[in-house]
Amino acid sequence: MATFDILVIGGTLPDGTIADIGITSGRIAAIGDLAGSEAGETIDASGDLVAPPFVDPHFHMDATLSYGTPRINASGTLLEGINLWGELREEASVDEMVARALEYCDWAVSLGLLAIRSHVDTTPDHLNTVTAMLEVQEKVKPYLDLQLVAFPQDGFLRSPTGRENLIRALDMGVEVVGGIPHFERTMADGAASLKELCEIAADRGLLVDIHCDETDDPLSRHIEALAYETQRLGLQGRVTGSHLTSMHSMDNYYVSKLLPLIAEAEISAIPNPLINITLQGRHDSYPKRRGLTRVKEMQAMGIRVGWGQDCVRDPWYSLGTGDMLDVAFMGLHVAQMTSPQEMARCFTMVTEENAKILHLDGYGLAVGNMASLVVLDAGDPIEALRLRPDRLCVISKGKVVSKQARNDARLALPGRPSSVRRRHKVPS
Ligand SMILES: [Zn+2]
Repeated sequence: MATFDILVIGGTLPDGTIADIGITSGRIAAIGDLAGSEAGETIDASGDLVAPPFVDPHFHMDATLSYGTPRINASGTLLEGINLWGELREEASVDEMVARALEYCDWAVSLGLLAIRSHVDTTPDHLNTVTAMLEVQEKVKPYLDLQLVAFPQDGFLRSPTGRENLIRALDMGVEVVGGIPHFERTMADGAASLKELCEIAADRGLLVDIHCDETDDPLSRHIEALAYETQRLGLQGRVTGSHLTSMHSMDNYYVSKLLPLIAEAEISAIPNPLINITLQGRHDSYPKRRGLTRVKEMQAMGIRVGWGQDCVRDPWYSLGTGDMLDVAFMGLHVAQMTSPQEMARCFTMVTEENAKILHLDGYGLAVGNMASLVVLDAGDPIEALRLRPDRLCVISKGKVVSKQARNDARLALPGRPSSVRRRHKVPS
């Protein structure tokens, strides 16, 4: 008879399989019918969805939970947000940033979000942002994988110390190279920044994640240069283009040339639907563009696309909770991914596909992998998207890190059931 540290019984996996999961020494030791096994702790997941943890491939942890300081973004635009953040990053202490980030990580864990790629602003010469986020990375390591990107918010070339500070951040231990070519002074400078940033990544053996073409200008075509540099330097599969919103407005003929270049370079794409739908199209009257990149079209070309969160309660976005199901729910609507296959794909985009973008080791529900999973109060991935339900149990690296009691509504209606859960099955 097998004995496990933790046994999760009766759960429905994302592919519809019903299986028990046995966990030993932080790893998944067995998946299948484990009836009769013993365990230190048993979690009953009968009727509930058991999924690998959520992964956020695009976030700004140094700015999170700072909403309202030094004041609120009155216009709601990207540029006012950047100006506000420019003031905040000068004033905020390392301790304040660490405290805000740790609070956010508590929210994330409670929602089953156990891996986050965060851009860290490398613009200020004091680099307090980097010091703070490296401290957070170390503190949350036992339960949350925090991957850091050196992000020159004010420009790699445009900011006087942009290049020097990005390299200092990499020397301090930041592990991914970022950039913002559409914010450089000219298109030529944007392309030059990408050339140099990709060379830095190739020299150091690092991944690349660029804030790329986050604008409604259809002529912002830095993704083309990013694809070129990626294949020139042999960085295929190691480079990500975040946002890519200009693609929404590009000429269709040009896009028909562009998408094969992105596919050839094996560049992943990260649209951030909560933020793109609120920040883009602000200069439009009507019709008003949505500003979301071409998700389904890229997927049809075999390009990996993951949904990112970008912001929670910061100078750019006043809302947000850390729930990747909110992100996927918005993405599903804006990209019109409404077929059953497309909806299910939206769930894998915030789990498995994002894990691949981050190059996470040992991720996923398979024997031998890291024992990290989430039990959701839903019957399947599409229902999870519809309900964005409570996370009944979250296990990270073999330890139960969060639990929440099932919380059905109690009804007081004559002749009706006494409680309701809002689950709904398609009649077979
Ligand atoms: Zn961002």
